Amino acid sequence: MRGITEQFLCDLIRFPSLPGNEQQAVEYAGRRFAELGEVEQIPLSNALREDKDYSDPVPGIEYEGRSNLRLRVAGTGGGRSLLFNTHLDVVPASPGQDQAFEPRVSVNRVYGRGACDAKGQVATLFTALSAIERLGVKLNGDVLAHLVVEEEVGGNGTLAMVRRGEQADACIVMEPTDMRILSSVRGAVWFRITCTGRAGHSGSGGTVSALKMAIRTIEILEQYHARLLAGSRGIPLFDQFTNPMPITFGKLAAGVWPATTPASASLEGVLGLLPNKTHQAVAEEMREAIRDGADEWLRDHFKLEFMYRHDAHVLDPGHPLVKGLEACCRETGTSGEVSAMTASCDSWFYSNQLRIPTVVFGPGSLRFAHSNEEQIGLDESAAAATILVRFLAEWCGGGRP
Ligand SMILES: [Zn+2]
Repeated sequence: MRGITEQFLCDLIRFPSLPGNEQQAVEYAGRRFAELGEVEQIPLSNALREDKDYSDPVPGIEYEGRSNLRLRVAGTGGGRSLLFNTHLDVVPASPGQDQAFEPRVSVNRVYGRGACDAKGQVATLFTALSAIERLGVKLNGDVLAHLVVEEEVGGNGTLAMVRRGEQADACIVMEPTDMRILSSVRGAVWFRITCTGRAGHSGSGGTVSALKMAIRTIEILEQYHARLLAGSRGIPLFDQFTNPMPITFGKLAAGVWPATTPASASLEGVLGLLPNKTHQAVAEEMREAIRDGADEWLRDHFKLEFMYRHDAHVLDPGHPLVKGLEACCRETGTSGEVSAMTASCDSWFYSNQLRIPTVVFGPGSLRFAHSNEEQIGLDESAAAATILVRFLAEWCGGGRP
């Protein structure tokens, strides 16, 4: 099994499938998964940009000529269906990550961009479904998979799949979770705040620094975050974390000259949210917090936009999806800990929009994702594939050669 995973994963890593450039990886995966079931390339279109849940952190990205993949391994009938989702796009190489798209295998671990996030997930799923095929197992229920693009920029690939509608009795979104079953997942909003000031010479007086306004905005939002966090305590599974929903200010740009007061400043960041709030409520509260932040100038001189908005979601840990997966983990010597995800991912589309019971699960560790040492253990991937084979037999029924 390990040989299949390693080869498939290394092949996938060699495609530099940054958002907008995934098509070769999509076609390769499509050819390989066609060995196991019916594969359709689902074309994307620029009309996606009109969707209310469209994320646009990369302006002007084109959709013509690009596609997602949908896989269906038809069951013999009468069983429950299971839908998988994972993604083929990756983030750019990190500083210090040489040859990010040239896979390296060392001591049973594969290194390279996408090794765990999420090409290692795609390879794990491929390995599990290959094992079922080789064992001659006929499942009763359908196995479906959405292998998507643009997860890293807010889930536009998954959005396109969800808008076509899909029916399934449960969904597993594969991301690196250290094999924990994440039945609660937080949401997030990516925001851009543009502050305007009154530009002028440093000696002229009467100027208002947009840069200072942006810094004031950071203070106001830090205070808002503290209130939001305090009001979000006591939610099961999230409460073990000191701050399951941080605010991060990732970009600040202002000014052109040391002795000129800047006219404009742009501040970008991300704020997490838990299931006690919708993304709409958080967006409105952020706007109010800045408006009421006791700065007369700022009140009328800021613009707040959202590039990405995901709600949180919760599945009862007693649901058969969670219980069944947990049992399969335990049987194979993995703890199967049920926990909460303190990041957001595409799972909310299935849970909240299609009402499919959904968890996030997969081999590999989030701490290596997006890092200059991204990697996955082949043993861990093999363990996850074994868990998925058992769970598929259990969930979809049949399972006898
Ligand atoms: Zn990622």
